[in-house]
Amino acid sequence: MIYLDYTANTPADPEVLDAYLAAERRYIANPNSTHIAGQEARAEMERVTQSIAQRLGVQPAEIIYTSGASEANNLALKGIAHASRHIGKHIISTQLEHSSVGASLSALQQQGYEIDLLDIGRDGRVDLDQLRELMRDDTILVAVCAVDSELGTIQPIREIAGIVKPYPGCRLHVDATQAVGKTDLWLDGVDTMSFTAHKFYGPNGIGALYKRRGLVIEPQISGGASTTIYRSGTPTLGLAVSLDAALTKALAGQDARNARVQRLHDRLLAGLQQYSLVRVNSPAHAVPHIVNVSVTGVKGTRFQQALSEQGVCVSVKSACSSDGLPSKAVFAVSRDRRNALSSWRISISHLTTDAEIDGFLQAFDTCYKTLTNKEN
Ligand code: PLP
Repeated sequence: MIYLDYTANTPADPEVLDAYLAAERRYIANPNSTHIAGQEARAEMERVTQSIAQRLGVQPAEIIYTSGASEANNLALKGIAHASRHIGKHIISTQLEHSSVGASLSALQQQGYEIDLLDIGRDGRVDLDQLRELMRDDTILVAVCAVDSELGTIQPIREIAGIVKPYPGCRLHVDATQAVGKTDLWLDGVDTMSFTAHKFYGPNGIGALYKRRGLVIEPQISGGASTTIYRSGTPTLGLAVSLDAALTKALAGQDARNARVQRLHDRLLAGLQQYSLVRVNSPAHAVPHIVNVSVTGVKGTRFQQALSEQGVCVSVKSACSSDGLPSKAVFAVSRDRRNALSSWRISISHLTTDAEIDGFLQAFDTCYKTLTNKEN
């Protein structure tokens, strides 16, 4: 099997799993318990939170653990919208967002919030002029992903933060799920930022929301004490330890990992560009980990299935929105509905080998010839 779907999920790093197991074996108590075992667990929780905060250049009190980025996005969007309703009900987001952002926005719309979605340019980036025009005194939230999961486009968060800054009632939420360990994170002017361990070689089931100190948001899970007042539930110490271990490795190894991925990306692209019906949809300003392509005239789902039969795992749209509709992101960069329906995504990792790229190109060649009746 050749796995090229690292944008959907990465395998947990063995060292990260060891750290998880060690913590789960060592700390048996609830970190909220006041006895000695609970205090030990709490001390470890505090150490780990301090470490995560340090990696990100923020304060420990600014980290809220969640089950992943979907929950973190829900908490940020609904939490900010509900806490800011006395200021206004206008929210701006983009066409590129993950379904956890899209569905949260729909839920807020049902509650009377007004949502505007920014257009995406041919370069895959949000339209900054449109953002400037849409900003109002009653705009309470701008929500943008730092890197989108379909094309891998890197969004201009610094510029967006600059546009939002003059509006004191408006908060900026950044979904950094696909950015951590791939691009540098911009936090100046950012109020909340979501991320999740399973995108950077940590386990599933743990993510976090960075929430700027002093910002009040409405909790979405009510109950007893946790590490913060913003999300109830017994803190999962082993998972927090793994988040820290995975984040530490991802950030420390970012440059070396990216250099390797860039080399593999260039080989992959050179191979694909030999075929006359291949269209590369990922724009120039994208992370090298994601290559979105279309084979003209062949539905993306069909090509993905054919590759799967050859033992190669790629995906159509994102794992959370394989709904058979044309990709909005690909439509935005190509303005071509049929091209959007033909698109699919290859995502590579520093773990990908040259032999896997060769194997993929061989399988691609077979599928291409079968599905297009063309040699190249
Ligand atoms: N945001 C983006 C941009 C994603 O790509 C994903 C997962 O694919 C998520 C959020 C959701 O992450 P999780 O699976 O941790 O809920």
